[in-house]
Amino acid sequence: MKDYYQILGVPKNASQEEIKKAYYKLAHKYHPDKGGDEKKFKEINEAYQVLSDKEKRAQYDRFGRVFEGGQRPGEGASQPGFDFQWSWSGPEGTDFGFGDIGDIGEMMEEIFGFGGPRRRRDIKRGKDIEITLEVSLEEAIKGTERVIGLEKMVVCPRCQGTGAEPGSKIKECFSCRGTGQVQQIKRTIFGSFTRWTVCPECKGEGYIPEKPCNVCKGEGRIKEEVEMRIRIPRGVDTGQIIKLRGKGEAGRKGGKAGDLYVKILVKRHPLFERRGDDLYISFPISFSQAALGDQIEIPTLEGKRIFLKVPAGTDSGKVFRISGKGVPHFSGYGRGNLYVELIVKTPKHLTRKQRELLEQLRKEGI
Ligand SMILES: [Zn+2]
Ligand SMILES: [Zn+2]
Repeated sequence: MKDYYQILGVPKNASQEEIKKAYYKLAHKYHPDKGGDEKKFKEINEAYQVLSDKEKRAQYDRFGRVFEGGQRPGEGASQPGFDFQWSWSGPEGTDFGFGDIGDIGEMMEEIFGFGGPRRRRDIKRGKDIEITLEVSLEEAIKGTERVIGLEKMVVCPRCQGTGAEPGSKIKECFSCRGTGQVQQIKRTIFGSFTRWTVCPECKGEGYIPEKPCNVCKGEGRIKEEVEMRIRIPRGVDTGQIIKLRGKGEAGRKGGKAGDLYVKILVKRHPLFERRGDDLYISFPISFSQAALGDQIEIPTLEGKRIFLKVPAGTDSGKVFRISGKGVPHFSGYGRGNLYVELIVKTPKHLTRKQRELLEQLRKEGI
């Protein structure tokens, strides 16, 4: 049976710290990416997996063997069912500046070449928030302002986003030695595969505060309900998205804030139908207005009065265009048109006089 203590070169009573140190040293030395012995590297990882885990170590000390869920006795620890482990593989003694994760990614790529860690996106950046805002057609035409309540991550007021208790120092992460990345080794029946992943200890930053902030527990941000004033420009339409840069969630530990996306939904109007920036309305006129012609007033959404001259002899269903009385173009210049469809209403309930007059009209052939 394999002696895990011997593999790591530590005494049976070694402390967790000693085991960790021994492991880092050996993993670095035998790392396959650097031309090390892969078999030996696997062995080291296996030993560390067991000895670094208090429970597994106690089991191993007592029974000399580790049983995992789904693993039958007798199977080696590197068989399927055995989970992966973390290992450090960054360049030793490399000095990184704080904060600039992008540079670290680049450096790692240079050092490890193809197959090394991919350039990571900004892991500290706050999440984007998407909300839907319902506005009336009037509001869409005139533009409006809304005050909304939004629960989101904001910069922690105690540590100003650093995540460190005021006055406490910030130290290099031991787990990744300041690189922010560790190698994950996945064991399968086809062998073991390694991939780069964000260090779980420092969440990729490479450093951790000696004493995390009391309020945000080191996150540098807290959840809070905030009031936000959102200006909705005139001319907006359903489906349009207004992006408010930096108004999303605060980033981790002073990272860049996300953006707020406001999706617009313009409510249907009982009288007006909107198609693009044009407005359509059906307007009823009487038979005599249609026959004799008239001047009618069209309802509007903005308070300014609009009159339409109905020519004599207008057919029901005829559409008139009133230029420039539609929705303002979002671009800010000009506006759509207003289309008025005139509907001749046939009278339903006639007075005696109306009936008499209509009878006369019939005799006249109308
Ligand atoms: Zn804080
Ligand atoms: Zn770390």
